[in-house]
Amino acid sequence: MDNNAREQRPHAAAKPLLGIGSCLAGNAVRYNGDTKKPNQHVRDLCEHFDTRAFCPEMGIGLGVPRPPIHLVSVGDEIRIKDADTHEHDYTDAIRDYARQTLDAAPQLCGYILVKGSPSCGYGRVKRYTQDGNYMASDQDGVFATALAEFDPLLPLEDDGRLNDPCLRESFVTRACVYHAWKELLADGLSAHRLIEFYSRHKYLVMAHDVPSYRELGPLLADLRGRDLDAVARQFITTLMGALKRPATRRSHCNVLFHISGYLKKRLPPEQRQRLAALIEDYRVGRVPLVVPITMLRHHFADHPDAYIEQQAFLAPYPDDLRLRNLL
Ligand code: SF4
Repeated sequence: MDNNAREQRPHAAAKPLLGIGSCLAGNAVRYNGDTKKPNQHVRDLCEHFDTRAFCPEMGIGLGVPRPPIHLVSVGDEIRIKDADTHEHDYTDAIRDYARQTLDAAPQLCGYILVKGSPSCGYGRVKRYTQDGNYMASDQDGVFATALAEFDPLLPLEDDGRLNDPCLRESFVTRACVYHAWKELLADGLSAHRLIEFYSRHKYLVMAHDVPSYRELGPLLADLRGRDLDAVARQFITTLMGALKRPATRRSHCNVLFHISGYLKKRLPPEQRQRLAALIEDYRVGRVPLVVPITMLRHHFADHPDAYIEQQAFLAPYPDDLRLRNLL
């Protein structure tokens, strides 16, 4: 099945859709006609998510091969120009292409950018003076900057940064939550769905940012007579912002203990103690997060609890990605 066909499946059955730099997806679209070899983590994500490839430089009509381009500091602005003469400025065209990309794939819930590219890089892209001298490596590519501007909630990472297990886990978590949010909107926003969505993501938010957790409850406390679209915008902006903050062992433990509280009356004392010991083992770094999570899931399989079973915290993404084995 090609990417476009996959994208047309009913949204309820669809996997999350990630955008990806076309060269990383195996297409020979780099300026010199090469592809870029994806690392194992990019390959894993492509296996578990639907993907749609975009190449902004090809998209604005530059062919293969093409002269290299780079970022140039012009006053307060960063422009993208041909590296040899700086005579051709592609900034506006690439920004337009970013808007077209988001319009063409409204289901996008994350984007895998390409390390170092003046168009698709994310952080640490080189910029040059107007004389062509190297200045610093401190920029996002022009396409990446425009994606972030036009859809500030869209999770972005590049293939290089995805080597970091914490960044990778954060990216995947946010992409899955953003996917769920887009499915909710596709089903139709309602007060009931909004509250249900928050209910499912409560502990995930708590693990990342307690102040946001405290803010979101009151925000949804009484929705009667309120502008639901405005509340929803504030809600998802706060929630996605919270998930951007890194969860720590300590904050994960806080949530693990909260959740294990639901087993208090259901487990015999010795099992409760073993569970608490396992959470402590995680806190001090003897075992990864997947260990206490797996134990909790086993217990809740034996002692079902409808509220806990729906919690995204216990299974925010496919287990096969093994993202919690390294946290
Ligand atoms: S513009 Fe982006 S997708 Fe196209 S070749 Fe460069 S890095 Fe790859």
